Amino acid sequence: MIMEKIDLKNLTLPELTAWVESLDLKPFRARQIFAWIHRPGFSDFGQMTDIAKHVRQLLAEKAYLSRLVPAKVECSSDGTVKFAFRLEDGQLIESVLIPEEDRNTLCVSSQVGCAMGCNFCLTGTLGFKRNLTAAEIVGQVDAALVWLQDRGGSGKGVNNLVFMGMGEPLLNFDNLIRAIQILMEQRAHDFSGRRITVSTCGIVPKMKELGEKVPVNLAVSLHAADNETRDRLMPINRTYPLEELLKACREYPLPPRRRIMIEYAMLKGINDSPAAARLLVKKLHGIRCKINILPYNASPDFPYERPDDETIEAFRQILRQAGHTTLLRSSRGSDISAACGQLAG
Ligand code: SF4
Repeated sequence: MIMEKIDLKNLTLPELTAWVESLDLKPFRARQIFAWIHRPGFSDFGQMTDIAKHVRQLLAEKAYLSRLVPAKVECSSDGTVKFAFRLEDGQLIESVLIPEEDRNTLCVSSQVGCAMGCNFCLTGTLGFKRNLTAAEIVGQVDAALVWLQDRGGSGKGVNNLVFMGMGEPLLNFDNLIRAIQILMEQRAHDFSGRRITVSTCGIVPKMKELGEKVPVNLAVSLHAADNETRDRLMPINRTYPLEELLKACREYPLPPRRRIMIEYAMLKGINDSPAAARLLVKKLHGIRCKINILPYNASPDFPYERPDDETIEAFRQILRQAGHTTLLRSSRGSDISAACGQLAG
């Protein structure tokens, strides 16, 4: 019988410890190995210089280390970088690195394609292909770090992660949690939960569990404050209507001093009226949140348009007057199809 090798990059530290012990190795070896394998770009057991040769040989016999290498890298005129990765089975995924003044944000994918079919999103048109493994999720961060290092880096590395790439993260729940646990591990990437945001289109039954398992930020793609409009934009609303979604937001175990990010893509003539803004204020009552207004990136694939600046400002003003913190996200990377809703492998 041929024994299948295990990809160690898929394992959390406790899982790796159990595996190491099953080989009759001491648990402290797991901590050493874990630190090695999560060095950006690391993929060769032979380089583990502080680990005995026979242990390295045993590891190479029983395990392997997957690694994502970009098949294509595109750089936007505004500094945004889009990575396309070809996975072991030939599927393509994308991640987007967004350099900002004081930090680098990486937008990672959680699935190949997406089953949610939001009707303003290019990823949704692909349909669902498969879930990413934890190693494939973490591998996107590794690859971005290697890319930054190869360019002399800015010293900032990747310091902010958003699960807003391809796929609905909460529908790949176990691998998402495992990947976040690996990324937060001090011996790996040492990310704080404050620096990780998971965005959902509204998978209500998993929202609370996410917050209970990992102390990350939650972003909710709302995009409409009435069921009729949201039903049209996001089919998931027919399964989990607004009332249930907003209840799940209220019940999310938010760490102190944090707020839920409400994502609101503004579509001309669809959800951009003063009445829509007032309804949004009403519906968000009692939810600790801030609102991210995303003027739509017009695309020939969809019938939507971006509202004009006065309409956006009037909408924003109503939210502000009601005491909400609002952010107006300028579109980044649209010239390389790296902006929100444009990832399609
Ligand atoms: S917006 Fe997100 S959840 Fe909706 S189809 Fe696109 S990737 Fe999927």
